[in-house]
Amino acid sequence: MWNWWTARKRRKWAELSFPQDWEETLHSDYAEWSRISPEMKSSIKRFIQIFIREKNWEGCGGLQLTDTMKVLISAQVGMMVSALGPIYFDHVLSILVYPDAYRAPNSTQNQMGIVTDRGSARMGEAWWQGPVILSWRHSLEGARNIDAENLVYHEFSHQIDMMNGRFVDGTPPMASEDEYQSWSQVMNHGYDQLRTRIRQREPSVIRRYGLTNPGEFFAVSTEAFFSAPGQLLIEYPEVYQSLQTYYRQDPASRRDSLREQRRA
Ligand SMILES: [Zn+2]
Repeated sequence: MWNWWTARKRRKWAELSFPQDWEETLHSDYAEWSRISPEMKSSIKRFIQIFIREKNWEGCGGLQLTDTMKVLISAQVGMMVSALGPIYFDHVLSILVYPDAYRAPNSTQNQMGIVTDRGSARMGEAWWQGPVILSWRHSLEGARNIDAENLVYHEFSHQIDMMNGRFVDGTPPMASEDEYQSWSQVMNHGYDQLRTRIRQREPSVIRRYGLTNPGEFFAVSTEAFFSAPGQLLIEYPEVYQSLQTYYRQDPASRRDSLREQRRA
């Protein structure tokens, strides 16, 4: 019954016409928007229509949450899952948004399904079968692609990670044992490479925070994959390829074709 209602509601929402001001928001503030194909845009727009209505959105710390904010956050989530089939993070009922980094009363960090990022002044959190909490300032900077960091990709990669259980182990759900094996080989190797780069004081597009644990390695690699894909492909080609296979998209090629268009 539930599934029937959910599917019907989603179909109806997906068919609604996409508001012009939402479209303008994507054009002006989501850097990746100009790089993707019309088909991908349509698929992300359908995702936004559903995600924005299905989740319980709450502004925290005095933030007046606007449609613009919801659209930009939803678009980034939609980008991640646009090729993965119908994923709407059913267990994430609420999305809480603070104006900036925030201090939360409960300051424990654990491995049991609550992932808190950035110590006591937090930028974001992802709870197992619970909310995602985001700083609006950092969500906007991510959308604008200020650098290789992206809070929304980060927190939702923890949610993807937790789709196969509460442990944030750096492994999203996969179809077969072989896929799990090759994934862990590549990620372990990437992890070692990151450690070596940090030790040798070489630059790394996967930031140092990835050394915290395999879950954080997956999250910061995902940030780099979508935000600085060309650099990830150069520095960590195997990690790039595994993420490309997993997310079923090739963001580095979008940058290449853009460069070619500009040259032409
Ligand atoms: Zn994290």
